Amino acid sequence: MSVPVLAVSGLARSFEQGGVRIDVLRGVDMTVGQGEIVALLGPSGSGKSTLLQAVGLLEGGFEGSIRIAGAEAAELDSDGRTRVRRESLGFVYQFHHLLPDFSAAENVVLPQMIRGADRATADARAEALLTALGLGHRLTHRPSQLSGGEQQRVAVARALANQPALVLADEPTGNLDEATADVVLAEFLRLVRGEGSAALVATHNERLAQKMDRVVRLHEGTLG
Ligand code: ADP
Ligand code: MG
Repeated sequence: MSVPVLAVSGLARSFEQGGVRIDVLRGVDMTVGQGEIVALLGPSGSGKSTLLQAVGLLEGGFEGSIRIAGAEAAELDSDGRTRVRRESLGFVYQFHHLLPDFSAAENVVLPQMIRGADRATADARAEALLTALGLGHRLTHRPSQLSGGEQQRVAVARALANQPALVLADEPTGNLDEATADVVLAEFLRLVRGEGSAALVATHNERLAQKMDRVVRLHEGTLG
């Protein structure tokens, strides 16, 4: 069997709130295979974002093992975590977090340049990804000149810019109306499949979760 892009075992995370300890994650075990799209389903407050932050190597303070494309998180120093994030991961959030002073295309070019791509190659890939998302006529627009659905599409293109093994998406359509959310999610899934990336998509929406290859449910800090 091929190496999974993500293998999590015994992942635990607690927070102190007003002197009270809350165990948010209590031993999460999961794997995501190459090219597999997994929904992480759970109600608000169940720990989805906490789990994605740990897997995204954005937050320390957790116990357990996280392996991304074979690299064990606990064995990485700060540079190693940055390298894994850049080389193996893509991120989509509920709010787009695009750079406001850069065009749609530039927002997709930038992560490629950071990884050492030459400008012409990065431009061509940005244009191809945005065109595949129906934004070929929006390349030079700033985020503020785009609709909410268009902004999230740019965020999707940016996440896929460096052909990540795994895309981490935290309520990627949570800020959109239902009809737009359906369309953007379908485009996201189509593009992720086309690129051969895997994805772990947090959502509280059962209906959206059912559109993915597999659903895992976060309940009382474990995956039931
Ligand atoms: P979800 O994304 O499923 O809505 P979260 O992972 O955001 O859930 O939060 C799960 C629980 O962890 C909540 O009770 C939240 O208040 C708590 N929590 C998350 N981050 C922190 C933090 N940095 N400090 C204290 N508590 C936190
Ligand atoms: Mg959340």
